[in-house]
Amino acid sequence: MVELPRRAALIGGCWDDDGVPFGCDNPATGTTLCELPATPVTGVDRAVAAARSAFEGPWGSMSPGRRQHTLARLASLIDEHAEELAALESAENGVPIDVTRRFSVAAMGKNLSYYASWIDKMGGHVIPLTSTGAFDYVIPEPYGVVAILTAYNTPSLFLGSKVGPALAAGNTVVVKPSPLASLPALRFAELCQEAGLPDGTVNVVLGGVEQGQALVGHREVDRVSFTGSRDAGVAISRLAAEHLVPVALELGGKSPNAVFADADMTRIGLGAALAAFALTGQACVAGSRLFVEEPVLDDVVSAVSDVARSLPVGDPARSGTVLGPLITDAHRTRVEGMLERATSGGAEVVCGGDRPGGADLSSGWYLNPTVVVNGGDETELVREEVFGPVVAVLPFRDEDELVRRANDTAYGLAAGVWTRDIGRAHRVARRIRAGTVWVNSYGVVPHSAPFGGFKQSGHGREGGPWGFELYTQPKNVYVDLA
Ligand code: NAD
Repeated sequence: MVELPRRAALIGGCWDDDGVPFGCDNPATGTTLCELPATPVTGVDRAVAAARSAFEGPWGSMSPGRRQHTLARLASLIDEHAEELAALESAENGVPIDVTRRFSVAAMGKNLSYYASWIDKMGGHVIPLTSTGAFDYVIPEPYGVVAILTAYNTPSLFLGSKVGPALAAGNTVVVKPSPLASLPALRFAELCQEAGLPDGTVNVVLGGVEQGQALVGHREVDRVSFTGSRDAGVAISRLAAEHLVPVALELGGKSPNAVFADADMTRIGLGAALAAFALTGQACVAGSRLFVEEPVLDDVVSAVSDVARSLPVGDPARSGTVLGPLITDAHRTRVEGMLERATSGGAEVVCGGDRPGGADLSSGWYLNPTVVVNGGDETELVREEVFGPVVAVLPFRDEDELVRRANDTAYGLAAGVWTRDIGRAHRVARRIRAGTVWVNSYGVVPHSAPFGGFKQSGHGREGGPWGFELYTQPKNVYVDLA
């Protein structure tokens, strides 16, 4: 049994359990873990007001040194409670414990300590002038109140990569996690209190679209940071545009992963399978279009399928599990529907496509890792984000054709290139329109590197100094020296 945090919103330092309850389900068992109150719109208003008071008061006026110390303390509390946070996240979103532990929760702690360490390193600029009678400098300033809305797949990671730099830059935040993965944010909020963050610096409101809209549309919000689907990104951008608030968007993808015939074939089976199936395919960067150069097509299909058949699917709480369940039954049905439409259109399932057997898995939302061939570039399975454990294998003849087809998507989040030809690796990396390109690897996102999308995968970059800049605006000060 996982230990549950307070089941209430955190508003201005007070736990508030007002609101219509919604269920917080365990996708591995289909049972309800607990109920949480959907914060009423009046509660969202109070959370924004509390964030404003903390920004204009104790957090905004805190010395940078003290801010750094407080965030470093929060980062160590995250590390101390990492195991518990990993178990909580895994129980709620079904991502295997090894992944929540080594990836999502580890990234939360790492990002918080990293951005705390930026506080005494992020300086301004002196502007060179053509006259001698003046002095001009630029300082980075926080926006004020930042609204943070996140997806369900790696909720702890988002807290680190968004709340970390937002607070480090001096902003205060109102977080609205996905209703499918709220618990890590509530435990995080408890740890923020323990670390001594002043009341109102971090607020957490609970619920779904209604609360998200109330937050993004709030006139006292100064900046929005969103991770989620493309369509929600469009809706949020429209709402924020009504009061001209800048929005940073981390959206979906349909990432190409390209294998050339000269690649190291001993690494492709596992490399391409994990690119597609990590997080049970519920990864924004999932390498769901596997382009393979024709001479090695059969070898690659069989290597990836062999790995797919061998990956442990099962209880996410058990160490060693690689694929847990999908987030909801409805989402699994959606993925199965896409597979059905693909096969009735002529595509062929080489492995997977079915639910794993065994009584212990029958009540969860499991689906076996699935390799599909003969789906055309124009089919739904190849064009739409599936967000499930499905990879479409697409043969190609040469580099130009690969680049053209890899770029033939509305998205541009990530891509992979597998080749031993160093010139080709750099050429293809340059020509692919995506925010991240991995060469002979996939899915590694160093916290110090920029991460974000081209095209409809979003705009703005998280990670490294880019992540810090996302939460600051430059102020120019011109001084007449006369
Ligand atoms: P989602 O868009 O359904 O929800 C994300 C968040 O937005 C939730 O908090 C939700 O309650 C809120 N929301 C949804 N519609 C809204 C609206 N109209 N107004 C206000 N708030 C709204 O996404 P999801 O199903 O939780 O996550 C999956 C999606 O997220 C995928 O598309 C995936 O690729 C994307 N994602 C992107 C990244 C990235 O870094 N680029 C990372 C993880 C997930």
